[in-house]
Amino acid sequence: MKVTRRQFLKVTGASAAVMAVADLGFDLKPAAAAVRTLRIKNVKGVPTVCPFCASGCGLLVYSERDAAGKFVKLLSVEGDPDNPINRGCACAKGSAMFNLREIYDEETGEQKINPMRATVPLYRAPGSDKWEEKEWEWMVEQIAHRVKETRDSSFIHKEKIADGSEIIVNRTEKIASVGGSGLDNEECYLWSKLARSLGMVYLETQARI
Ligand code: SF4
Repeated sequence: MKVTRRQFLKVTGASAAVMAVADLGFDLKPAAAAVRTLRIKNVKGVPTVCPFCASGCGLLVYSERDAAGKFVKLLSVEGDPDNPINRGCACAKGSAMFNLREIYDEETGEQKINPMRATVPLYRAPGSDKWEEKEWEWMVEQIAHRVKETRDSSFIHKEKIADGSEIIVNRTEKIASVGGSGLDNEECYLWSKLARSLGMVYLETQARI
């Protein structure tokens, strides 16, 4: 290929490099298209809800997948612009959700699984300074068992009022519930029905505190 003096000067000028390469007869369109393809190839964005506080901000988790769609590694976590709660924003904690699962090794700089991440339910018995690993079934059973035990032992069936007569109140004052903004209307409705049916009267939501 014969290169003219004008073409040579263009090629050696950094700011005009791309145009110059085109001038030499190369078609850059396929290369530019390939770069765009590579940047998003096998990257999957999945909407989720931030686990930190009960504001319930929506986040998008981007991960790299292999050809079979299997998870390879986490790429980034950012606010979900389609979520009406946070509209793409995320506070410092939500923005750092990436590190819940993966961190960068301080020495090698390599991305690796966060060794501090809890991957199984952990239980600390009353008075203990140790956490024990438990099965989900055990945890759910414990919660149900303790709610029932506390509710039954604290249940108030009747209560005296000002004129000395008794009225039925059917309530417990030993269990309270704090909900979060991550719950939608229907979930709040179902949860409040369950709580009221147990006799709970202290129902609050994080959004109002
Ligand atoms: S992003 Fe921040 S404000 Fe939103 S739910 Fe997470 S911790 Fe709460």
